[in-house]
Amino acid sequence: MPLCFLICLCGEKQLLPHFNTICFIFTFFLISEEVTVDIIQLLPDNIANQIAAGEVIQRPASAVKELLENAVDAGATEIRLIVTDAGKNLVQVIDNGNGMSETDARMCFERHATSKIKNIDDLFRVRTMGFRGEALASIAAVAQVELKTRRTEDELGTYIEIENSTVIKQEPCACPVGTNFCMKNVFFNVPARRNFLKSNAAELRHIIDEFIRVAMAFPGVFFSLTSNGQEVFHLESGSLKQRVLQILGSQFNAKLVPVKEETDYLDIHGFIGKPDAARKTRGEQYFFVNNRFIRSAYLNHAVMNAFEGIIAKDSFPMYVLFIDLDPEQVDINVHPTKQEIKFEDEKIVYAFIQAAVKHALAQFSIAPSLDFTLNAEIQQLEAVNRPLTEEKKENIEGSSLYKTFTQKHQAHFIEPNEKSELRHWKEFFTSGKPDTGYQLPVSGNEVPEVTQDAGQLKTGNLPAGQAGWNPETTCIQLHNTYIIAPIQNGFLLVHQQLAHERILYDRYTAAAHGKKIATQQNLFPSTLELAAADAALLEDLLPELQTIGYRIEPFGKNTFVIQGTPADVMQGNEKHSIELLIEQFKHFSSDIKFSKREKLVRCMARQQAIKAGQALGQKEMSSLVEELFNCNTPNVTPTGSPTYIEFKEDYLDRMFGK
Ligand code: ADP
Ligand code: MG
Repeated sequence: MPLCFLICLCGEKQLLPHFNTICFIFTFFLISEEVTVDIIQLLPDNIANQIAAGEVIQRPASAVKELLENAVDAGATEIRLIVTDAGKNLVQVIDNGNGMSETDARMCFERHATSKIKNIDDLFRVRTMGFRGEALASIAAVAQVELKTRRTEDELGTYIEIENSTVIKQEPCACPVGTNFCMKNVFFNVPARRNFLKSNAAELRHIIDEFIRVAMAFPGVFFSLTSNGQEVFHLESGSLKQRVLQILGSQFNAKLVPVKEETDYLDIHGFIGKPDAARKTRGEQYFFVNNRFIRSAYLNHAVMNAFEGIIAKDSFPMYVLFIDLDPEQVDINVHPTKQEIKFEDEKIVYAFIQAAVKHALAQFSIAPSLDFTLNAEIQQLEAVNRPLTEEKKENIEGSSLYKTFTQKHQAHFIEPNEKSELRHWKEFFTSGKPDTGYQLPVSGNEVPEVTQDAGQLKTGNLPAGQAGWNPETTCIQLHNTYIIAPIQNGFLLVHQQLAHERILYDRYTAAAHGKKIATQQNLFPSTLELAAADAALLEDLLPELQTIGYRIEPFGKNTFVIQGTPADVMQGNEKHSIELLIEQFKHFSSDIKFSKREKLVRCMARQQAIKAGQALGQKEMSSLVEELFNCNTPNVTPTGSPTYIEFKEDYLDRMFGK
């Protein structure tokens, strides 16, 4: 019977994520109670809140997001965020918003207590950031909380201390109008979760990310962020452009292109970066829908598409775009932290964004008007041709933007601009061909010991001597990608990039474990300015980077000086290589959980390996092959791809029927 119940309960979709908790509670009751009937009990509030908190509060940064959004919803014009120990000890948000009455101050910690919606219809009209009434209850369930709040009309404010969902103290207090919320020792009562928190640098990075997302969306509000007593951000209220520059850095001043399109269906405004502001890292890309930061690979694709051919393939355009549309056209209730939303019609939004970005680029003579053809795929979208209701359709079709991509040959007509400096845009952006330069591998003298058979068509499985490789032999390069290296009884077909990746992986691994690696001092140390979150990541990686040959020093706010680089990295290329490394590190994906150091070594090896397509000289080829066979496992890359294939003479003979 209880099992039946359990299965029924878990059949409910919403309860599935709590399956373990439910099982545990059932087992607990089964063991501890003699009674065999009526075993279900309501969970006490504090446990129910803790379970619910699991979704909303995953780390200090989640609380930061919720508290900042509450302050914005309360109409504050000044919001200060204070954290210590990356929020693990304290997250405090002080606002000058509406404040709460004594009753509300107590009520706000109840689950599903909200002033923002009253009925289900409101849910589809919400303009506030919050609406579920879960955040404060969740925070109070997993931390020690102190709240001071006062409304203008009240002489005295209210002070409340609460922990583990239990009110410890409540009394009137003197305090300024607004709300001052402290979350202390998050997860003090859920040690397993506390142990899951990452390093301070990593947690601070998450906090900065959340802070930026809220601050960017509300440029009219003053924001500051103080971490361990140091003010990291001080953002005076101003225009969106000012806010973007305050956050991303004034170097973007001449690089922002405004985007502004208004239609009956949706409005888009914001900025895109000129092509020379594109970076090797994805850092500066922000979408806001009705002022709410969202992630959407699909909409990102729309922007990337508009930039196609204007920026290098492996770089990312900067954008801060605000999409405003009728709240009824979006469902923000699909994700616990509301970072993913569902559009009533995503394809229309895609098409609008793409057209708006193209328009902005063309207006500022960045994209040539000739290239301004419309994406056929989009034109054919059913959604574009038959949007929503008839009435809506009329409205939308009336808008000029809609016409630009639905009527053939009616793309924005841009007067050719003779003076445009970027007329030769193609040359402009294809000239720089960075990538890594290949230098002769410096021999690492490890003795080969393990050899594995990667199976199949005689993938390389022999160390140098045994394969019969003689460094004096002449190699042949094929398609600038493969090296044919004759051996005693046949030949090896070596993939230059994969082979080099193996070599570098071994070299960097040895370095990471203490073997000294050659560093070349940069003649002209270069400075690297990063977005705040990337800077925090780089700061975190500095000790590991040092072991593999980088000499990088922090140099004030979000800026670093690169003093030295590993001997393999070509001089003049170090900035690019660091940016690329950060990007790869952020997006490193693997089924296996690797340590930070291992991830870094893998990224470095992949990044610095000579690429397929690069011509190699005779000496470079033979060093590469020799170096490969000095590796412990020469036959595969760290990710398991073969590095070479061996063709034996007798196999070749057989192929020719001999
Ligand atoms: P939600 O924001 O979804 O309504 P929360 O748990 O975040 O839920 O907050 C509950 C309620 O507490 C809010 O609806 C609001 O009325 C009140 N509240 C929270 N933070 C503040 C604040 N900083 N200033 C004024 N009122 C607040
Ligand atoms: Mg809220």
